[in-house]
Amino acid sequence: MSTFQAPKGTYDLTPPRSATFLAVREAIAAPLRDSGYGYIETPGFENVELFARGVGESTDIVTKEMYTLTTKGGDQLALRPEGTASVLRAALEANLHKAGNLPVKLWYSGSYYRYERPQAGRYRHFSQVGAEAIGTEDPVLDAELIILADQAYRSLGLRQFRILLNSLGDKECRPVYREALQTFLRDLDLDEETRRRIEINPLRVLDDKRADVQKQLTDAPKLRDYLCDACKAYHEEVRALLTAAGVVYEDDEKLVRGLDYYTRTTFEFVHDGLGSQSAVGGGGRYDGLSEMIGGPELPSVGWALGVDRTVLALEAEGIELDLPYATSVYAVPLGEEARRVLFGVVTGLRRAGIAADFAFGGRGLKGAMKSANRSGARYALVAGERDLAEGVVQLKDMESGEQSAVPLTEVAAELAKRLG
Ligand code: AMP
Repeated sequence: MSTFQAPKGTYDLTPPRSATFLAVREAIAAPLRDSGYGYIETPGFENVELFARGVGESTDIVTKEMYTLTTKGGDQLALRPEGTASVLRAALEANLHKAGNLPVKLWYSGSYYRYERPQAGRYRHFSQVGAEAIGTEDPVLDAELIILADQAYRSLGLRQFRILLNSLGDKECRPVYREALQTFLRDLDLDEETRRRIEINPLRVLDDKRADVQKQLTDAPKLRDYLCDACKAYHEEVRALLTAAGVVYEDDEKLVRGLDYYTRTTFEFVHDGLGSQSAVGGGGRYDGLSEMIGGPELPSVGWALGVDRTVLALEAEGIELDLPYATSVYAVPLGEEARRVLFGVVTGLRRAGIAADFAFGGRGLKGAMKSANRSGARYALVAGERDLAEGVVQLKDMESGEQSAVPLTEVAAELAKRLG
């Protein structure tokens, strides 16, 4: 070990586990790419005000968890704690919404930073793949995104996840509910911080995990009873579309999520094998966000799925992804001449699209075969002076242990055939 360690709340992705992370990112991205979402990448940091306005001054994310810094030039920046505000900012800046092709459908993948209390499944640096559909109010779009996330999780083999669904109302009905809820909450026996929360973001109180708080909330007014007709109809349509697609969900009227910008459809994917950090992904509609960051009215919907927790969910379900062999062929040269010849063979294999590796460093047969085993290669190519004199290499099937001599000129074709 060196003098240094990964900072608190972070960890390194190293092989072989890192291959699972790549596969998870790919599995989440694939259904999006196939559904008209284009890739977007934004900086790892933004003007701090973007998040203050776009995520909400009342959220823990902004008040407690942001990594902020002042540059030498005096700019106030923050490492991005989430993706939506940045993606919307970038879409507006590039005028993507003016191309006359709404919704603007985008997907992204990257690192996010929150100064949280680290625990299993909760880190200060984590990874998300997200999707945003900007500029259209259409329940089909909300349903599409939920269906695509469901499809991604299923393609990984995950089964023990549930979809929680709720509607948070819109700018007509939500304020009425908010006031009714505040009136109810002010009469409860709550600590100072929670009392403050009642005034800035009362819906968050419903999300409180403490049993003594939850006990007092049984008779809290329900948002469902306050939804306006338009919100009700919209929500019913989303539910009907999910049902028609065969996607099972649970209505959860307590689901509010931590960010201020959500309106109407809100959803979370939870996994039952993860303990307290059970949310593997979540999202919803954010019809007011564009205006909050100085843009035009652009009703939008999106989600972000956590890559770290999805990997933990796979492990909890005991799912081993069927990852392709990183290396298909491992070449073991015995002697100087064989090194040159086999390295040439390996280069040729690679150019032909066959993943191949090589025993570097002039090692003996025993040590090199150990490396071949460890590499997970399906085949080993071994050649010494006598093989070269006969113009052959020994091709060993690492699964069956069978070995046969193959003419040098036919190695590539033979391997291509065997590997299909
Ligand atoms: P959020 O932006 O809070 O809705 O988060 C969306 C998803 O990102 C969550 O469901 C988690 O899977 C993941 N996530 C959020 N915060 C963290 C964290 N601190 N550590 C690991 N994953 C996280």
